[in-house]
Amino acid sequence: MSEMRTAVLNGGCQCGAIRYALYALPVGTICHCRMCQKAVGGPFAALATLPRADLAWTAGAPARFESSSLASRGFCAACGTPLTYEGVSEPDKIDITICSLDDPAAAAPREQYGVESRVTWFDTLAGLPAVRTDANYDGLVSRQHPDF
Ligand SMILES: [Zn+2]
Ligand SMILES: [Zn+2]
Repeated sequence: MSEMRTAVLNGGCQCGAIRYALYALPVGTICHCRMCQKAVGGPFAALATLPRADLAWTAGAPARFESSSLASRGFCAACGTPLTYEGVSEPDKIDITICSLDDPAAAAPREQYGVESRVTWFDTLAGLPAVRTDANYDGLVSRQHPDF
């Protein structure tokens, strides 16, 4: 890691124990496979790939779970935020979870995998009634690390 490099994106877990810097723009995908669904507790994992050398942990480091013989998943042991996917077949690459980025819009998905496990209601999501967060959480006290 050269100290001369400038991060193009930053991110981290919900509690702030783990923070990272990216020195290259990652390529976004989503994966509907059952392993990804379980790993994030959601309908799909939104992941973005970049060279491992272009990621630096700037605070803490993720705990890991080897979810299969092919991959391990990194997460914050303090707050549980899913952070990485690392496949053994591509040791020079790492995926970070797109929404752990401070700016998730910077890595829009370009492809989707694991479509055999896509939840049946995936295609209806955009049609659901839409309510803003601030309509429901007046007086909320956040313990989430601020994005910066
Ligand atoms: Zn955390
Ligand atoms: Zn997957």
